[in-house]
Amino acid sequence: MDDAVVVGSGPNGLAAAIALAQAGASVRILEARSEVGGGIRTAELTLPGFAHDVCSGCHPMGVLSPWFRSLPLAEHGLRWIHPPASVAHPLDGEPAVLLRRSLRETASGLGADARAYENLFAPFLRAPQELLADLLGPLRIPRHPIRLARFGLPGLLPATGAFRARFRGQRARALLAGCAAHSILPLERPLTAAVGTLFALTGHMADWPVAAGGSQAIGRALASYLRALGGRIETGRHVRSLEDLPPARVVLFDTSPAQLADIGAPILPAGYVRRLRRYRYGPGAFKLDWALDGPIPWRDPRCLEASTVHLGGTFDEIAAGEAAVWRGEHPERPFVLIVQQSQFDNSRAPAGKHTGYAYCHVPPGSIVDRTDVIERQIERFAPGFRDRILARHTTCTSDLERDNPNYVGGAITGGVADLWQFFTRPVARLDPYSTANPRLFICSASTPPGGGVHGMCGYFAARSALRRLRRLPENLSPLPCSGRLRRPV
Ligand SMILES: Cc1cc2nc3c(=O)[nH]c(=O)nc-3n(C[C@H](O)[C@H](O)[C@H](O)COP(=O)(O)OP(=O)(O)OC[C@H]3O[C@@H](n4cnc5c(N)ncnc54)[C@H](O)[C@@H]3O)c2cc1C
Repeated sequence: MDDAVVVGSGPNGLAAAIALAQAGASVRILEARSEVGGGIRTAELTLPGFAHDVCSGCHPMGVLSPWFRSLPLAEHGLRWIHPPASVAHPLDGEPAVLLRRSLRETASGLGADARAYENLFAPFLRAPQELLADLLGPLRIPRHPIRLARFGLPGLLPATGAFRARFRGQRARALLAGCAAHSILPLERPLTAAVGTLFALTGHMADWPVAAGGSQAIGRALASYLRALGGRIETGRHVRSLEDLPPARVVLFDTSPAQLADIGAPILPAGYVRRLRRYRYGPGAFKLDWALDGPIPWRDPRCLEASTVHLGGTFDEIAAGEAAVWRGEHPERPFVLIVQQSQFDNSRAPAGKHTGYAYCHVPPGSIVDRTDVIERQIERFAPGFRDRILARHTTCTSDLERDNPNYVGGAITGGVADLWQFFTRPVARLDPYSTANPRLFICSASTPPGGGVHGMCGYFAARSALRRLRRLPENLSPLPCSGRLRRPV
């Protein structure tokens, strides 16, 4: 009997398995697909020789994750490529705003708001890793409470109020609107100021990198290290019921709360299952990948220096687009997120050619094709873009969910992270990784600290499972026990 079985090999499943194996537990991962990685996979989606990141493309949280930083991933083949800038934010009729690692240089592009911008970030940059370690975890007593309060209390505000009050010009406001839109929340909602500030802050800690060879390199490095620790990974093993699980002392689910409810229902109290089913997933994404005949012909060529481009113009336009998505609408000018991997990693496309990657947010389960509006947004800031398209691949919400059942309705970051669900994902519990069955745990992005490739959900879930493993009796009957088990033994 294994000490632990992990269902799913996304970054959190792999991170959890590594933490368990490092502590001496025997671990086995069961992955439904034929390859590991979940949200960190790469594939030739358009033409031969063009390597596209299927889901995540850019990795500020990956390179800064306290857990990943502690692992020897470089020895297992992971190489981060840092661009000269993290974000380019083009605006109509004026130069693009660039988020660079240097606070001074970034601020100098913000006109009258330069000083206000520096004043906002300089205090957090005194010990940014400590702040990040407090932020990237469950609700707990922080190690650095004063620093966290200084960040978190203003961060509770909506981005609309916080950034409009702090900045007078449109350049700083637009840059922070783009960063706040990573929350996939209307910018009028509490907590969006924290998301905007956090994403910009990461840009001053490290230029947002891409993974050499594709995001798949992250999953492969994690899997290789796990195997070196003695962990096992079985692909092609879709777990649909408890009967699909091999005997284990504990099971960790790198899945949506909905799947945990479906699979675990026979051994979970009905009330807990109902709470899992009430979990909110929020908007989805519509993604486009292109094979391109050359780089994107940005009107401001400095946009090619950034791994990520935020398209959507002014703060007001981005706020209006994101609010519309939450009303179930498809805005004519959506916020579009672009990643330019091949600009910095020439293994992604044949010589002289490029890959293109973009997505916008859409209402949950949307089946509307957003190709035209996304390409129009790019043409607005890069006239002639369409002439460079050799081939395109579209992914709508149902494709995302078919590809990975965790992306319920096409939601890409594990569910809504609003004020309530940010702190109580997947349900309100003191230990959010534990479930109502002492031998089942959840370790996916639907737990704190939420979406993104950082592995912190998996790390904290593993710590919770390890505490339990130490307390379980030796003569435990294996999970799954068929029938209606409601107690641990
Ligand atoms: C289009 C898109 C763009 C994104 N861009 C970024 C980005 O640029 N940067 C970033 O940091 N994050 C990004 N993300 C988010 C990031 O990919 C996710 O937050 C992250 O992958 C979540 O990791 P996870 O381990 O919780 O789950 P996942 O990565 O979803 O992995 C879950 C794994 O479990 C498997 N699985 C699920 N159910 C079962 C089952 N029943 N049985 C067996 N196996 C199962 C799945 O096949 C999958 O391999 C993006 C996501 C998408 C979809």
